[in-house]
Amino acid sequence: MESRYLYRRNRLAKKRRRKRIIRKAVTAAISILIVAAIIALAVWIISAFTKKNKPENNNEKPALAEQTETQKTETEPEKPVVEEEEAPPVEPEPEIQIKTETVTLTEDDIHKGILILVNRDHPFSFTADYEMTDLFTFKSSAYKFRDTGMMFAPFAGEKLNEMLVDFHNKTGNHIINIISAFRDIETQQRIYDSKLKYYNGDVAVTEKWVALPGSSEHHTGLAVDLGIYTDDGDSFDYDGTGEYAWINENCWKYGFIVRYDSSKTDITGIAYEPWHFRYLGLPHSEIISGTTFCYEEYTEYLKTFPQNGDHLFFTSYTGERYEIFYVPSQGAETKVELPENSDYFISGNNADGFIVTVTLHDNP
Ligand SMILES: [Zn+2]
Repeated sequence: MESRYLYRRNRLAKKRRRKRIIRKAVTAAISILIVAAIIALAVWIISAFTKKNKPENNNEKPALAEQTETQKTETEPEKPVVEEEEAPPVEPEPEIQIKTETVTLTEDDIHKGILILVNRDHPFSFTADYEMTDLFTFKSSAYKFRDTGMMFAPFAGEKLNEMLVDFHNKTGNHIINIISAFRDIETQQRIYDSKLKYYNGDVAVTEKWVALPGSSEHHTGLAVDLGIYTDDGDSFDYDGTGEYAWINENCWKYGFIVRYDSSKTDITGIAYEPWHFRYLGLPHSEIISGTTFCYEEYTEYLKTFPQNGDHLFFTSYTGERYEIFYVPSQGAETKVELPENSDYFISGNNADGFIVTVTLHDNP
């Protein structure tokens, strides 16, 4: 019995020992698992934290880069920011530099040039800067001359000759008579005095037909009067009608205008004179022919195209393109800026400034 008991006790003790061993092993295993789980959790947290932080760091970098770039731009504005090495090479833009030349004009220059306005309010100051030539040097059987020694601006005389030859070729008419061109002040005074006598001292009527000495366009050498002188020796007024109308209608092509129109006598102060032609040259004669302006009105019109505003652009029937603007006089010296080597002419307006006419060329 006892032995059995002992055996049982031994068995029980063995059992208990085994149980203890098992419990210990289980506890150890659980502890290992817990530690492993803790380590795994720690690793996961750390890795998650690291991942979370990474993009934040990446975001900071461009922000810094941007700042740096901005600072660069601020300190060196003239240098473009080149970001990538592989960016295509930027070709430098060709520098467009319009070289200009300055023309300095004096107060006297207001009264010089082919576009001067001459009338009662704006007398001629006898400052023509061109040599006059005898119209007789153009002698032609296409028309006649009242006399030799009638002086004229040579460039205008050339165009007058061209116009009268064209008229003759068109009509066969050869009895146009040039009766008056340049007049000095004494000649004008003589004409004025004789007309005043003719009108019995009536100054108002006289001055409708004859400009006051100093106020005549004939002083400029740019105005001409036409008449008729028949082969039988009879003289007639030229009235610009019939076949002669061709001249009055086409004179602008040669640079002339019919200066004293019947509808503008209140502005010009001169009666209708279909025989009196004034040279202005192209494009001005052509522009005026397309309007109802008399020359007084035209000079005012040009003032609406000031140097620092919109200019007047005009294409002539010749195909030539022009740019025109007005420069008011600044007193003793007026400076006009023009592109270097441009093709231009400047004329005073005989009142208060200058008219600049530029011929435009597509290929400078
Ligand atoms: Zn005249």
